[in-house]
Amino acid sequence: MRRGSNLPAVGTYNQTLVLDLIRRSADGLSRSELAERTGLSAQTLSNVARRLVDTGMVVEGAPVVAGKGKPPTPLRLNPQSRFAVGIHLDPAVDTFVLVDLAGTVVAHEEHAPHPGPEHGMPLPDLASRANELLDRAGVRRDRVLGIGVAAPGPIDAERGSLLEPPMLPAWHHVPLRDSLQQATGLPVTVEKDVVAAMVGELWVDASQGLGEAIFFYYGAGVGVGLAVDATPVRGRTGNAGDVAHLVVEPGGPACRCGNRGCLGVAVAPERLIEDAGLGAGTAPAEWRALLGEMTERALAGDARAGAVFDRTAESLARAMVAMNNLLDADVVVIGGPMWSRISRALEPRLARALATSTESTTTRGIELLGTRLHTDVAAVGAACLVLDGAFTARPAGLMIG
Ligand SMILES: [Zn+2]
Repeated sequence: MRRGSNLPAVGTYNQTLVLDLIRRSADGLSRSELAERTGLSAQTLSNVARRLVDTGMVVEGAPVVAGKGKPPTPLRLNPQSRFAVGIHLDPAVDTFVLVDLAGTVVAHEEHAPHPGPEHGMPLPDLASRANELLDRAGVRRDRVLGIGVAAPGPIDAERGSLLEPPMLPAWHHVPLRDSLQQATGLPVTVEKDVVAAMVGELWVDASQGLGEAIFFYYGAGVGVGLAVDATPVRGRTGNAGDVAHLVVEPGGPACRCGNRGCLGVAVAPERLIEDAGLGAGTAPAEWRALLGEMTERALAGDARAGAVFDRTAESLARAMVAMNNLLDADVVVIGGPMWSRISRALEPRLARALATSTESTTTRGIELLGTRLHTDVAAVGAACLVLDGAFTARPAGLMIG
């Protein structure tokens, strides 16, 4: 339980702490409940509550009459008071979402990714799509806290740009954050997609069961987002979570790192598609449809597709067990743009492979959860990042006032 402080210098911290508690409670919380949970004095709490009501982010509910004395008035989140835009740049699809202060998606769009630098700069498209999303939703700009962009790593967190992601050639050397900020007039944050996905899961995790968790992201590439003590792990440069070179299939396909059977190449969508007999040398934009087809075949009893999923489940299980042995999280959330297309065929196989792993050293076994944010997870996570940056109380926030 995080506690507040009655010192005036930490007013902002108290405000975010109180807002976070209100946000996570379904029926709202009274001032006395909030005082009890935060350790704040009644006077401090009352000041914080008034400021939150003044911003419109919190509203007073109807008094709850119970027993004698003045009935307590619950304070509730006003979800429609603020919004954030989330954009996920992925080699297979660009996803745009608008979320409200509760993290609920109120608008959603998908666009084909920009084909490459030979087709001009990708940024004007991105900015006009973000602007159009806001116009269509009829949301006033002063209600929008900012834009979060999630993209495959590695990212340059300091400059807010992407560092030559192999499958997104259009974005090489583009000053993403600064240009998008200029073109939309909104603050922009850039985050690695797996970190954004973990942020999104933590944001919607009302019961706070994901204190320690691994988010396994399956898109055009693989990666993990980690949560320790309910805080997403970014690492020093914002690039934590690269697991592509964990060797999971000794003697497997060659990887550009020089080894064989690295996770990234072992479970690469194009490999699965080719081995299942659905085409060689396929393009990222085709992968989701082809993986969907492969899943249908496996579910209909196609032995070749089934065998590829068996092998993939073994590889994923090895990687998950190794990560879980390291972190002792016992909870793996799995999602990403490719996962939704194969989960029906792969998840039961994966659960079996995890349960029978001889390499697991933790005592509880791994609980596998589907993402609550579906295929939008990284885009919603990027939007939640904007909400998170503005409103989630972290003890570290005390250091910067
Ligand atoms: Zn490798």
